[in-house]
Amino acid sequence: MDFATAFHSAAENTTDERTRELALNLAAVHERIDEASVAAGREDRPQLIVVTKYFPASDVRRLHELGVRHIGENKDQEAGAKAQEVGPLEELTWHFIGQLQSNKAKSVVRYADWVHSADRVKIVNGLHKAMEKEIGEGHREQPLNLLLQVDLRDPVSEDGRGGCSPKNLKALAEAAASSPHLRLSGLMAVAPLGEEPEPAFARLATIAEDLRADHPGASMLSAGMSQDLEAAVAHGATHLRIGRDVLGERPYR
Ligand SMILES: *Cc1c(COP(=O)(O)O)cnc(C)c1O
Repeated sequence: MDFATAFHSAAENTTDERTRELALNLAAVHERIDEASVAAGREDRPQLIVVTKYFPASDVRRLHELGVRHIGENKDQEAGAKAQEVGPLEELTWHFIGQLQSNKAKSVVRYADWVHSADRVKIVNGLHKAMEKEIGEGHREQPLNLLLQVDLRDPVSEDGRGGCSPKNLKALAEAAASSPHLRLSGLMAVAPLGEEPEPAFARLATIAEDLRADHPGASMLSAGMSQDLEAAVAHGATHLRIGRDVLGERPYR
């Protein structure tokens, strides 16, 4: 049974109104992923990460009951509290996708299995030190899966505000690859405001290819949000970060 069909039937089989809404939204998003994958002639299917920022721990539990295993969060304080409230759930994987300050590294590695948003050497070093401590204290065994965030704005602005500029990526990748506690896994990017996502994701695909020439293990590509998942799938995204189209409009805060 494909994902969309499975979520449609989950929606029919629940009495909880919110679970039903989430299941129907998941079915619709998976239909879009399927169509985009077929249109792009892809045989691999991108992984959906459901971004639950602004939404409560109870929604994470509902998503997990529906079979979702990949959850994304973009603010450390909210994510840490939510992960604690949700508690350990089978195979639940937390992805930290937001802007990161190096003084938050210690906190992030307590709950995040993946960090998508390392964009400066200082952040990479902070995560390395935080992981060294976590491993030293026996809280973790495996290295942290790390993606480097690339700034796709053209022309690029200063580093550290939404990504590393492509010209500095090589040095950042070297820093990540030199840590035994970090597993350099690939790249993440957000389509720039005010530009069509297609050409931006096309640039990203080229940057990713260059990175893989030096680091063959860095094969993940985290790109695509509710509005632009089709363009991301067309340009090789392996991980999609979808919030709004699954959870609904975010409450104003
Ligand atoms: C919120 C967020 C998303 C999800 O965006 P939607 O438009 O809600 O799908 C993806 N990536 C990052 C970095 C985010 O902060």
